[in-house]
Amino acid sequence: MDHTKINLLVKLQHLDNQIESIVSLQKGLPEEIDALDEDLIFTTRQIETRKIIADDQLKQRSRLHDTINDCKNKILNFKEKQTLARNNKEYDALSKQIEYEEKEIAQAEIQLQDIVHAVQKAQEIQKKGQQLIIENRYDEITEEMMPDDVLHQQLEDLKKQVDQKREELDSIVIETAADVDSLKNKIETQRAVIDREAKRLLDKYDHLRSGSLRNAVVKLNRNACSGCNTRVPTNRHTMIVQGGFYLCESCGRIVVHEKLFEEAEN
Ligand SMILES: [Zn+2]
Repeated sequence: MDHTKINLLVKLQHLDNQIESIVSLQKGLPEEIDALDEDLIFTTRQIETRKIIADDQLKQRSRLHDTINDCKNKILNFKEKQTLARNNKEYDALSKQIEYEEKEIAQAEIQLQDIVHAVQKAQEIQKKGQQLIIENRYDEITEEMMPDDVLHQQLEDLKKQVDQKREELDSIVIETAADVDSLKNKIETQRAVIDREAKRLLDKYDHLRSGSLRNAVVKLNRNACSGCNTRVPTNRHTMIVQGGFYLCESCGRIVVHEKLFEEAEN
């Protein structure tokens, strides 16, 4: 058996392991940042939705007040005309117009009341949320119960946290960038060599690593595959000790003697 081929692959696994250990320095920061970003988007959207509703209510109120003022002016105007009416028919016609404007005012006032009620209701719901917060009953708080000030505070806190984590991650990335670049170059070279010398082994390696598994080549540890702890048959030990490899029957990993890893390190 040509043992140099497996040595090439162990070297590749060794390099890939080094990259993995550098990435693990990031301590799950990228995932944490993603989760915080999602919360940030959600909170921002909540605040924006409330602002859109409040702006819309303000616009409606101002429009309704304008309508009422318009109607009132018209009524004054009609009443003035009534004093100059030449006959009952003219007078009655003006009365009808006044009546119409009064109805318009009444309608606008109902709409204004509805808005006031909607605002009051939203405030009451938030008060309930405030109470639940005081009682530490956070899981009972619905989206609309979240008080405005708490929501804004939450947004500020989330922004601070994301910035902090991002800074932390950036500094780790900057610190390790040179090492990662150099490892990536070595890996590329190593892969090119194996692709020429032992393409089938490289395919096997890539296939094993195509899922979540990162260690395709593992050491023989206490006569077992160190990837899954399944015992390696005794009659295969000699071959492994001699520098060959064994495909674990249980997990499919490539099992080699630890000295191959020691050699790869040097
Ligand atoms: Zn195994």
